Parts: sequence; C-alpha cells; structure tokens
Amino acid sequence: MLTDYHVHLRADDLDARAADNFTSANARRYREAASARGISELGVSEHVYRFREALAIWEHPFWVQNAIDDLIAYCAFVREQTDLKLGLEVDYIPGREAQTRQLLERLELDYVIGSVHFVPLAGGGVGAVDMAEHGVWSSGAGPEEVWSAYFTTLGQAAASGLFDILAHVDLVKVFSAGERRPQGDLRRFYELALPAIIGSGVAVELSTAGLRKPCAELYPSRELLELLVAGGAPIALSSDAHRAQDLGYRYERALALLSELGVQELCVFERRRRSLAPIGAPGGAAAEDAAIAAGEGT
Ligand SMILES: [Zn+2]
Ligand SMILES: [Zn+2]
Repeated sequence: MLTDYHVHLRADDLDARAADNFTSANARRYREAASARGISELGVSEHVYRFREALAIWEHPFWVQNAIDDLIAYCAFVREQTDLKLGLEVDYIPGREAQTRQLLERLELDYVIGSVHFVPLAGGGVGAVDMAEHGVWSSGAGPEEVWSAYFTTLGQAAASGLFDILAHVDLVKVFSAGERRPQGDLRRFYELALPAIIGSGVAVELSTAGLRKPCAELYPSRELLELLVAGGAPIALSSDAHRAQDLGYRYERALALLSELGVQELCVFERRRRSLAPIGAPGGAAAEDAAIAAGEGT
C-alpha cells in the first residue's frame, strides 16, 4: 500500500480557480495518475488560506489576497463528487491556536496537515520561508536566526495538537544554498523541535516535493528522518503534488530511504483516526511506464 495525502488540485496561484479545478473530471485524472503508480490511498489537502473562512485565523496580506473560495463548498465537493480522502493543509500560526481549532471543529476531515510557512522574526513581524514575496530572507535575518525560528515554531505546531500530520518538516532549507544554510551540524536546530514532535505523537510527512525544489532533497533530510524514526514518529508519505503528473513523484527515492531505516508501515487516515498499513511495492512495470510517459526524472 502506498499513500499520497499531501496533494493540491491546482497550482498555488490566483489564476488557478476553484471552478476550473475542483471538478469530478480533475479528481478522476488525479485518481488515474495515482493508480498508475500503485498509489491506492489518495487524498487532497488544499491550502486553508485560499478560503475566506481562514481570515478568522489570520489576516496577513498574503492571506487576504488569497482568501477567495468557500471552504464548506470544497469539503462538499470532495465528499460528494470524488472518491478521494478529504484533507486540508493548515498553517500553524502562533497565538491563533484557538481560532484554528474552532475552524477545524466545524469540518469533518479525514486528516489535517500542519505546515509552518511563516516564522516570527526577532525584529518583529513574520516572514515566509518558501516564498520570495513576504519572504524571510529579504528581512535581513541570517540563517542562524531563520533556522532557529523555523524549528522552534515547528515544535510549537507539533505541541499544539491541532494536526494529524506535520508537513515538509525541514522546509526552511528550500532555498538553502550558500549563505542561507547554517554552518556545521544541523542537529542544534532539529533539537529545537524534536522533543515536541516525538512527545506529541503527531505523524511526520516524508515528502518528495523537495526533490523538485532548489534544495533537491527529500523533506526531511536523511539525518532528521533518522532521528524522527528513532524516536518512534509514524511516517506519512506524500508528494505535495500540485498537478496530476507529480503524484507519487520519485517515490522510489523515498521508499529506498524508508527501507534503509527499517520503516515498514505508513500512516493511513480516515475521519481523523490514524492506523498503520504495510508499505507495498509501487505499481511495478505499469507504474514505471506511466512515470516515464509523464516525464519523470527529467
Ligand atoms: Zn506547504
Ligand atoms: Zn502543500
């Protein structure tokens, strides 16, 4: 059995409208692409900030600009017009835990994926670790400050109890070439989050999305994944695809690493209840043919 739970039905831009992408035909395309790669457990997890309801949590200018769609309509669409699991990717916003919980309590989701995209800055305000606009790196903060703020916030996200899965747990490395990567042993940053992650029991995502990004690594790094697995963190496997052809993107890399670390089970979610299922082989020759046809590896 293989999963892909951290999945978006559209690109992260305002031109990708709900009306064009939240359709049963698009959901069928995603299902077919996943099946061709041997992925049976498929769910979608749109960004919370693209829905108007998210403004009850936070009114950052980026959210105000993006909060266009109706969250209840999205949930109804996934439940009634698709055979996909229903998830949501929800930013952890420090200090807004109660508002976030209130929003999530109104929904009957299969799983909630918690993400840290924005981190607080020592000089006040916040910066995004994965965007140029509103980005943390234009604030003048150096890598020590940014990585410390990121992993501290990630630990708080785990401890909040709001989420079933922690997404892309070392996302801060996405642009991490040169001056944006701290020197030396990175465990001093991981240790800011590890006790809270392990203590909370939250599942941790192994995401192949980083392989498509400038950092060209899995999220998390092998070293961080080893620490998480040693601490007993259950693993959720995803691609963070924003288009059907990226479903199961380079899963062979992720599966080889899990095998090396002795991980034999993946998290499966239904109505926010977690179970573990044995990892199955990706879909064999048919999957490889589909991957080649989709241009994987280029
Ligand atoms: Zn994300
Ligand atoms: Zn995502």
